[in-house]
Amino acid sequence: MLYNKIDKKLLKKRVANEPFARKTCSFYRYYPLEDIASLRDRLYYELNELSVLGRIYLAAEGINAQCSIPLHQYDNFKHLLSRYDILKNVSLQTGLEEIVPSFYKLTIKIRPELVATNLPTHQANPSLASPKLDPLTFHEALTAEKTLAVDIRNHYEHEVGHFDHALRLPADTFSDLLPMLPQKLNDKKDHNLLLYCTGGIRCEKASAYLRHHGFSNVYQLRGGIIAYANAVKNHHIASRFKGKNFVFDERLGEKISSETIAVCHQCSAPCDTHTNCHYEDCHLLFIQCEQCNTYFNGCCSIACKEKSALPIATQRSLRKRPHPKHSALAVHKARAALKKIDRRPLDNPNPSS
Ligand SMILES: [Zn+2]
Ligand SMILES: [Zn+2]
Repeated sequence: MLYNKIDKKLLKKRVANEPFARKTCSFYRYYPLEDIASLRDRLYYELNELSVLGRIYLAAEGINAQCSIPLHQYDNFKHLLSRYDILKNVSLQTGLEEIVPSFYKLTIKIRPELVATNLPTHQANPSLASPKLDPLTFHEALTAEKTLAVDIRNHYEHEVGHFDHALRLPADTFSDLLPMLPQKLNDKKDHNLLLYCTGGIRCEKASAYLRHHGFSNVYQLRGGIIAYANAVKNHHIASRFKGKNFVFDERLGEKISSETIAVCHQCSAPCDTHTNCHYEDCHLLFIQCEQCNTYFNGCCSIACKEKSALPIATQRSLRKRPHPKHSALAVHKARAALKKIDRRPLDNPNPSS
C-alpha cells in the first residue's frame, strides 16, 4: 500500500512553492469494480507520477474523485484516465475559481459505498436513477408550474448557497437526508422534482430512492451545481443559484453569485466563510466572520479558545482522556448551540466577565 504521510504544514508549503498553476476537477462514475486494491495502487502510482493531488474514493460500485492537476499535466491526466475502462469518456467537472489550493496531498480510499446510504442496494440503485437535465434545461425548468427544486446536500452546504425556493432539509449526512425526502415530498407527488447536488453523484442515488418510493416526475441536474455555474457563466445568464457552492476540499466553497446568504454563527453578521474550529480536538465546522475569527482565535467558543491556548503538552494530556467521539447529532447540537451562546460583545476585553 502506498500512503502519503507527511506533515500537513510541510505539504502546504510544498504546494505554495510550486512553480506552476493547478486546476481542480472532479469526476465520478457508478461502474462495478473488481480487484479494487490493485486498481487503487495503480491509480495512486500513475497519478502521483503526474503530481496530481486530491481525494479519490473507490467502492465496488465505482469511483468518485476530486483532483488538483498541474496545468501543464492536464492533457497527460486526461490521457491517463482514458486508459482505464472505468474512466473512458468520463465527464470532468472543473470549478470556477482557483485562488486557494484545493488539496495538499493525494489520498485514495476504499469505501463500502461511494456515498453512504446505509440502505440495501435495491432502494437506492444508481442504475435506476432518474433522467438528467442539462444545466440550461434545468435553469428553464426551475420556473415551470408545479415544479420544486430539491437540495440533496447537507445543511451546512445549503446554508451558504442554494437555488431559489429549493426544498432544503436539516440533514447532517446523505444517509440522514434520504429518509426525510419521501416524507417531506409526500404532497408533491404530482410535481416535477428537480434534484441537485454539488457534482451529481448524490442525485443518482437520491433520485433512484425517490422512484423506489413511488415518485415518478423526478429529474436531476447533470454535473450538479459545478456544471450549472459554468453554464450560466458561459451563457451570461443570471444564476438562479444564490451564494456559494460548498466544496469538500481546502477551499470549502466557491462563490457562484455575489450574494452572501448566510451569517456568522457567532455575531450574525453576513458571512459565508466556513472554518473548522482551531482547537484540534473540537474541529467543528462552522461559519465565522473575520472579526470573530480574530476574537475567538479561530475557535467556535470561549471554551475551545481557552483550551487551544494551553501549552501543547497540556493539550495532549487532555486529549489522552477518553472523550466521546462527535456523532453527527452531537455536531448538529453543538452547531445549534453556537447560535445561542458566545455572543459576547466583540470589544469585551475580558471574555470571562
Ligand atoms: Zn462574527
Ligand atoms: Zn470548538
